[in-house]
Amino acid sequence: MLLEGEPITVLSHVGYNKKSRCGYCSNPSGSYTFGLWAHSLTVEHYQKMIDRGWRRSGKYLYKPDLRASCCPQYTIRSDSDRLDPTKFKPNKDQRRALNKFNRFILGDETYDAALKHLTRKEAEVKSKTAKEQPSQPNPSPKSKPGKDTFSLPLHTSLSTNPLPSPLPQPAHTFTCTLSPPTSTPEKFSLYKAYQIRVHNDPASKITEDGFNRFLCDNPFEVQKEGGRRWGTWHQEYRVDGRLVALAVLDLLPRGVSSVYLIYDNDIGERFALGRVSALREIALCEQLVKEGGEGGEVRYYMGFWIWGCEKMRYKGEYAPSEVLDPEGMGWVELKALENALEQSGGKYVSLSGEETYSTPSEPPTTQEDEEGEEEGTDSPPGTLFATNMPGITSLPSLRASHDIDEQLILVNGMVADFGWLRAKARRLGKSGVEGMRMVLEEVLAGVGVEVGKEVVVAL
Ligand SMILES: [Zn+2]
Repeated sequence: MLLEGEPITVLSHVGYNKKSRCGYCSNPSGSYTFGLWAHSLTVEHYQKMIDRGWRRSGKYLYKPDLRASCCPQYTIRSDSDRLDPTKFKPNKDQRRALNKFNRFILGDETYDAALKHLTRKEAEVKSKTAKEQPSQPNPSPKSKPGKDTFSLPLHTSLSTNPLPSPLPQPAHTFTCTLSPPTSTPEKFSLYKAYQIRVHNDPASKITEDGFNRFLCDNPFEVQKEGGRRWGTWHQEYRVDGRLVALAVLDLLPRGVSSVYLIYDNDIGERFALGRVSALREIALCEQLVKEGGEGGEVRYYMGFWIWGCEKMRYKGEYAPSEVLDPEGMGWVELKALENALEQSGGKYVSLSGEETYSTPSEPPTTQEDEEGEEEGTDSPPGTLFATNMPGITSLPSLRASHDIDEQLILVNGMVADFGWLRAKARRLGKSGVEGMRMVLEEVLAGVGVEVGKEVVVAL
């Protein structure tokens, strides 16, 4: 049901995209994805879509075909336990990166004094809480005072919170703030330098327009509601006022999705800001829970994880992590998937128990393929159901659970249901409606019936 003024989701069909360049290995034609264009998208719908293996780039939404692609991409997120501060412990390298950065910002003397002061304060608060609730068991009976003092909220806020007055002043000022995702000359110049340095992009190909489309444009309408922040934000890392890193984040009902991170050659590289920012984003999840996360759960989504891809390995280091099973759409432990992929040599596997593929089926071959189709060409509607792509609702199950005539569509700037359009076409003796039905069915199969019933499909 559409209500005036309420955010709505309007999607367009882009189609099944085969044999595009794979960004993870050097294969020029190994990536297969199904794509949609989001004119507008609610955070709730996007949350459900990323929980079905979707991801976005600007307003383009895509779902990889894991079976056909050379490097199957599994959606990875933090396990719920890790947001419990008594359970989540960053590893040694992650702690070291954060400590080193804090020490640089505060300076040696202030760092030591501030850490001592704040750790003591935190211990006092903890013991006070424990006395007030004597019936509660001690959450970590093994920890001794003075030992194992790493606390994520404390260590991530150490360099940003104002220090109490007896402490010496910090060596540098550091701010880390969320701002609307707009383009500025400062952000663009950081982006350009990063793309050239890290991705070897030719300078002539990096434009402000491209930056805008990739890291500013987004389909979300609402940014703030009831004190809670939603949708796309830029997190600006500034040292002494200078922008040294920029994280692009999607804030969703039950997740923080990390979209991209860029950082400078000086402070960003020297202090492993990739690690520092991931820890800060995990701390942000905890903060959003306090701001009103649904069901007390805000998980950290790091995008796609790829077996054997060195560049993606770091994502598995924020343990414990879980990955989306592309067929059952349930979450499985990363370790279990790693073991299965070890066995298959990196070829597509599903752990849902319904089907397990130890040998890959061949990607769908059509006449066009044999004739050497150009890379990145979208296939005509109807192709999706012939692909055997995991995580796509089958046509019989789609038709059994959804009356396509009730589907909301957008035609000629007007929202109507598909049944109305069909009746009109019949009256006028117009053809072409069956093609539209195929477009609708592909969109619904991709996003799933639950989301599909609530969206408007632009035809
Ligand atoms: Zn590949």
